[in-house]
Amino acid sequence: MTAPAYKRILLKLSGEVLMGNQQFGIDTEFVAALAGEVKAAKDSGLELCLVIGGGNIFRGMAGAAKGMDRAQADYMGMLATVMNALAMQSALERLGVPTRVQSAIEMDKVCEPVIRRRAERHLEKGRVVIFAAGVGAPYFTTDSGAALRAAEMKCDALLKGTSVDGVYNADPKKDPTARRYDTVDYDTVLADNLQVMDASAVALCRDNNIPIVVFSIREQGNLARVLAGEGTQTIVK
Ligand code: UDP
Repeated sequence: MTAPAYKRILLKLSGEVLMGNQQFGIDTEFVAALAGEVKAAKDSGLELCLVIGGGNIFRGMAGAAKGMDRAQADYMGMLATVMNALAMQSALERLGVPTRVQSAIEMDKVCEPVIRRRAERHLEKGRVVIFAAGVGAPYFTTDSGAALRAAEMKCDALLKGTSVDGVYNADPKKDPTARRYDTVDYDTVLADNLQVMDASAVALCRDNNIPIVVFSIREQGNLARVLAGEGTQTIVK
């Protein structure tokens, strides 16, 4: 596989990867290791936007399943993503990487609001921009937030760092014949309901021609490998 020539990427990390080997919350050592990978990517000359989920702390659906009002629970989930963004900002700054957090829910004591032109300027100045609080509306996910920010920031690709090493035609944990795709098109993902990102995020990437690169962020060095066109991954395009 030849190395893809990305200049600007959006890296989406699910909240779960921040747990490391814990069952809940933020494993600061693991976040520090992730920050090291992000720094290496940035040092290679890339412009980097980050979106981090909140599933390691709170998911709206889980709250709603226990009787909470769904929108209320979703706002709690969005706040969880802000906590993760601040944890990542702290880890990156310890490594000397300049960062800004921009939240879709304004909270000016802790971070900036999402302002596209300002984010653009941060990237030009070599800062990593971490977008928090998804799209800022309930009934969405951070995957949709990632697709939206990737589109408005004109990213060359959306890299989804997760705990599986790509997209399979069936659940590999249940079906031993499950096969991983090297590449798969957006419409197959949508028609076959493949577990990549939620449908609205996939559709937004399709409509804006943004490839989605799915890979495991759990193995150290994998982000660099994927950026070099090596390592196990699936490209949705
Ligand atoms: N959320 C939301 N709107 C958004 C982004 C997130 O309501 O635009 C809420 C939703 O409840 C979601 C939670 O925040 O479950 C955490 O985000 P997500 O589940 O996407 O995190 P991940 O699975 O990536 O860790």
